[in-house]
Amino acid sequence: MTSAGRFAPSPSGELHVGNLRTAILAWLFARSTGRRFLMRVEDLDRARAGAEAEQLRDLAAIGVTWDGGIVRQTDREHLYAEAIAQLTAAGLTYECFCTRREIQEAPSAPHAPLGAYPGTCRNLNDAERDARRAARPAAVRLRAAVAETTVRDVLHGDYTGVVDDFVLRRNDGVTAYNLAVVVDDAVQGIDQVVRGVDLLPSTPRQAYLASLLNMPVPEYAHVPLVLNSDGARLAKRDGAVTLADLARAGVGADEVRDTLLASLGLPSGPLADALAVFDPAALPREPWVWPGA
Ligand SMILES: [Zn+2]
Repeated sequence: MTSAGRFAPSPSGELHVGNLRTAILAWLFARSTGRRFLMRVEDLDRARAGAEAEQLRDLAAIGVTWDGGIVRQTDREHLYAEAIAQLTAAGLTYECFCTRREIQEAPSAPHAPLGAYPGTCRNLNDAERDARRAARPAAVRLRAAVAETTVRDVLHGDYTGVVDDFVLRRNDGVTAYNLAVVVDDAVQGIDQVVRGVDLLPSTPRQAYLASLLNMPVPEYAHVPLVLNSDGARLAKRDGAVTLADLARAGVGADEVRDTLLASLGLPSGPLADALAVFDPAALPREPWVWPGA
């Protein structure tokens, strides 16, 4: 299988300029390294009718093109179930009956990193498990043998982060993001993952899971976020931040693309012009504040 990069939006609403900037970067990283560029719709959760079509239209409008058809996670449940079955057969999963509140209020294990699952359900005996099963559906957690691991990132170098007994399948039956993304990247031959730096802390969990599934760990590049004028991560409530909003304000897609390229120190015009001079080492490392329209 040839190597590939990807963009993987969640169709929960329209993309904003921060999402579009990340998409442009993912495209540039893939194309500049001779990779295919794949589009995957991460619609396992919170999908909104019509959002996928809007997102794909907006990506095309700024010049982000992709190879092959659209892959949707809701069509791939069998792959996720297979991966969880493989881990379960190896003794690497357990059922968890905790509510969010119980996890927050549980005393954490000694030396456990902040935010790590406290291990409440890790060693239930059969009777305890049966009693809990009768009361509540179970989530499936990974039985991790490490507390942290290190990944290599093109922009961040070596990054060490928490690996806990994270959820693989939620108690409502929905496959967890960390599991789906690892399986999809491996099955699709994606060996380069470019996404927002907000996902860097999840990356050690994903790399560890990939190794347990005997799947290759991709190359990672976590790119800076776009912020609003208050220094918070850009969101829909921050005024005209989608292509549709901006078009109503008289700003066309080409102009938005050029503003995003300029924020990356890249020439305006078609993405091919930026591609010709794209150099990851020269990318800004700080977040960028959206100047507004
Ligand atoms: Zn639990």
